[in-house]
Amino acid sequence: MKSEYYKDLKIHNSLSGKKDFFVPIDNNNVGMYVCGPTVYNNAHLGNCRTFISFDLIYRYLSHLGYKVRYVRNLTDVGHLENEDGSGEDKVAKKARLENIEPMEIVQKYTLDFHNILKKLNTIPPNIEPTASGHIIEQIDSIKQIIDAGYGYEKNGSVYFDILKFNESNTYGKLSGRKIEDMMNQSRVLDGASDKKNPQDFALWKKAEKNHIMFWNSPWGKGFPGWHLECTSMSKKYLGDFFDIHGGGLDLKFPHHDCEIAQSEAIDGSNPAKYWMHTNMLTLNGKKMSKSIDNFILPNEVFSGDNKILSKAFNPNVVKFFIYQAHYRSVLDLSNDALLASEKGFNKLISGYNLISKLASNEKKSDFDVGLWVTNCYSKMNDDFNTPMLIAEMFDCIRFINSVNIKSKNLNNSDKEKLSEVFNNFLFNVLGFNLEDTNQTRNDSSVELIKLLIKLRNQARVNKNFELSDQIRNDLLELGIKLNDDKNDSSYNLI
Ligand code: AMP
Ligand code: ZN
Repeated sequence: MKSEYYKDLKIHNSLSGKKDFFVPIDNNNVGMYVCGPTVYNNAHLGNCRTFISFDLIYRYLSHLGYKVRYVRNLTDVGHLENEDGSGEDKVAKKARLENIEPMEIVQKYTLDFHNILKKLNTIPPNIEPTASGHIIEQIDSIKQIIDAGYGYEKNGSVYFDILKFNESNTYGKLSGRKIEDMMNQSRVLDGASDKKNPQDFALWKKAEKNHIMFWNSPWGKGFPGWHLECTSMSKKYLGDFFDIHGGGLDLKFPHHDCEIAQSEAIDGSNPAKYWMHTNMLTLNGKKMSKSIDNFILPNEVFSGDNKILSKAFNPNVVKFFIYQAHYRSVLDLSNDALLASEKGFNKLISGYNLISKLASNEKKSDFDVGLWVTNCYSKMNDDFNTPMLIAEMFDCIRFINSVNIKSKNLNNSDKEKLSEVFNNFLFNVLGFNLEDTNQTRNDSSVELIKLLIKLRNQARVNKNFELSDQIRNDLLELGIKLNDDKNDSSYNLI
């Protein structure tokens, strides 16, 4: 059953450049394709930001009651080293350097990728197709593009003819780049190139003598171009026109503009109704990236074994940090930001843990719980605005703390509602996982605070004010403020 809030969802669509109401093509069913990683090295935290963001989107759509088919590919062949589509295949190069089979490289880093995303408690996609497992489909797509008149073969490679395509279509719909500008900016092709134009991209590449990953094709031995796999595999599993296509902002051009051109060449249709792009995680103000040696690996964050951070941070804290920025904003990783996120996350969970322990009654609550719930959904419906959702949750936690110190009133049924909605947002939508060992400690923190208050009460009775002050001050440093009564204390989180 669909939630009452589904109708208000708006998604920022890179295609229209604005927030559009989300109306799926087929009622309750949603098809979502997200470009996955190239499995030739360990995924860094920047890659994880993108996949956590789409996990959130998948979770929220499912929470609203949609049946989502989530497809995320693994690129294991065809992604060449350089942005302009030149150089060696990334997987093949790594295999050559390590002197092992390309598929050993693929297996090693696929396992690592799955392992990391599991630690981050993301839900696996429904289908995870690989490029190497869909060579037949890609050859078919190339034939269709050639038949449509937009592909040409030269010396065993096949290229997409951008200028021909642009005569009756528009190349660059997502990025807004104009073909004339691109042509003015690019260098002239030397005689050695098989391309008619520098902007043309490879659909099929001839395997040179030493190339280790290749397949037979109508054009000889070779391998598919990177942009093609997503077109062939999204068509196979989601059809010619599906709801959401996503990826990081750096894929908008050329990858996604090329995908659109390929699909339009095959069947005249832009493959997706909504195109979504996540912004970059930066480190020291620069895009997190392996190629410029500016990155941190998730396991280095979880273990504390790195030169950037002062301590270890658990996966929930990393997710909280990521959610504190909107997915379309740049987010910079720093020790201070993670420390603040840790404090924020602990406060959120302590507040949630308090709910079940609160006294409630038949009187009207001093907080409009119904309005608060509506506000939480409206933040998520506003293009998945997690920082605003978290702000709403903190607003409610202030109320929870005031009920705890008995200065505010909570109605019985409101208490149940709070518990249910917190549960939904914390675990189903944001995907936090308190079974994580570090978090088990957080679960028991309420009991520990109570124990410290009991010991401090004893110290006060014994007139050991040095100890009682120390406990109060140390708790305050941890963000826990004690409010003294005559013989006892309550506390609130600040
Ligand atoms: P790749 O394996 O390089 O194709 O990247 C996999 C995904 O991670 C793509 O959707 C990229 O856009 C995304 N990505 C790469 N670097 C970052 C970053 N620094 N921040 C956020 N997403 C990124
Ligand atoms: Zn793709």
